[in-house]
Amino acid sequence: MRVIICGVPGVGKSTVMNIVAEKSSHPIVNFGTVMFEEAKERGLATHRDEMRKLPMDVQRELQRNAAKKIGEMSSALIDTHLSIKTPYGYFPGLPKHILAEIRPHLIVVIEAPPEIIADRRGRDEDRIRDADEIRAIKEQQEINRYLAAAASVITGANIIFVENKEGKAEEAANKILKAMGVI
Ligand code: ATP
Ligand code: AMP
Ligand code: MG
Repeated sequence: MRVIICGVPGVGKSTVMNIVAEKSSHPIVNFGTVMFEEAKERGLATHRDEMRKLPMDVQRELQRNAAKKIGEMSSALIDTHLSIKTPYGYFPGLPKHILAEIRPHLIVVIEAPPEIIADRRGRDEDRIRDADEIRAIKEQQEINRYLAAAASVITGANIIFVENKEGKAEEAANKILKAMGVI
């Protein structure tokens, strides 16, 4: 099955998803990585975190091309975002035409308290994060719930909200595996 796994940056998507992949034998595909492969090849970005600052028409084109590639996979855990914070406002990660390519069977929203997410972002030295305040994380998680509901209605895919508690990534992964019917 194709499972979309999303949540604000730093919530722990990749961490939880690695456990789900191991236990479900589903391959992981990172939407941002697929976009970045094309962006790098075309000389549009040298780091994945530059993509959200590109002109919107370029981001939309990269998004569309990535969705086409990912939609060809028969089973996948798709690591992506419901909203991308750009200098031009929130960019929806899963608008109708993108969902039509991906055709998800399940949508998973990973969440955590904003204070914990801010702390996790601070730990991740590889990434270039915006200086987000806790209030901004709260706002984005709220918006993501609306966007997730819309994506569920558009596709008919079930939706689950999973809290990624500190030190309990395995517990979060098990909730996803249950919704996938694996355990
Ligand atoms: P991005 O959207 O930027 O790719 P992400 O949602 O994939 O972020 P991760 O890279 O998985 O987030 O996690 C961010 C940081 O939080 C990492 O340092 C990771 O080890 C840590 N982390 C993730 N889940 C947990 C958890 N349940 N308990 C403690 N630390 C965690
Ligand atoms: P990530 O590593 O998951 O944080 O993704 C890196 C970058 O890829 C994001 O900051 C966005 O610029 C881009 N990206 C990921 N998923 C999407 C999506 N569904 N739509 C548009 N851009 C995306
Ligand atoms: Mg990640």
